Amino acid sequence: MAGEEVAFKTVRDDIPVARRSISSRRSGIFIYFSISFFVLVTGTLFWLGRTNGWTGSGIEREEQLNSKIGQFSEDGRLLGHFPYSEASEESLVLFSPGLKMHSETAKAYKEMRSAAAQEGISLILLSAYRSHQLQKEIFFEIKSQRNQTALERSKVSAPPGHSEHSTGYAIDIGDANRPDTDFEESFENTPAFRWLKRNASRYHFTLSFPPDNHQGVTYEPWHWRFEGTADALREFEKANKHSRMRQ
Ligand SMILES: [Zn+2]
Repeated sequence: MAGEEVAFKTVRDDIPVARRSISSRRSGIFIYFSISFFVLVTGTLFWLGRTNGWTGSGIEREEQLNSKIGQFSEDGRLLGHFPYSEASEESLVLFSPGLKMHSETAKAYKEMRSAAAQEGISLILLSAYRSHQLQKEIFFEIKSQRNQTALERSKVSAPPGHSEHSTGYAIDIGDANRPDTDFEESFENTPAFRWLKRNASRYHFTLSFPPDNHQGVTYEPWHWRFEGTADALREFEKANKHSRMRQ
């Protein structure tokens, strides 16, 4: 060990003092510029990230979003809509191309549809399960297309994370013979709606947003939710409690 130390010292001592100080000054300048460059690049990237919304966790972004679109009420509602979880992939079945729903919803809807058909009524499925991501796209896309405020928009389509559609239990129904009334209030004048009003409860479907509903959501005669299982009922417990309390 002592021998190695001596050898090292000898090599260093062989470099003239002047050259030694130049090389250490050079490496000092190099380190200084490296650090400055690093700080400049990371600082610029961070600033760009903040202004473009690249940084921040998902939760932070959700919070920013929520503060933009409105305030939560004490019962967790956002712009009148309750928060809803997302159905698990295993609980969903493909009902028709591009339309998934909870397997229990599908079973009940099929029964209801064939019962309606026997009376000459053609129910058609317009929309079913929507992931939180899809809801986000719909909410903001339609909002910008129609240039509506978040409050106006929420009356037609729930804000992301707050749509009954994400549970797999909510579906939008139309009259196959009256496509002009799809997603329109005028759907209430169709044979399909009149039939649903009389019979849907037998298949455990409830109109989520009747006229002047207590959640303050615009009347949606096409939007029905399935409440025929304990799990489904649990999902809509808050909404049901809320409307009972206000009655
Ligand atoms: Zn709907």
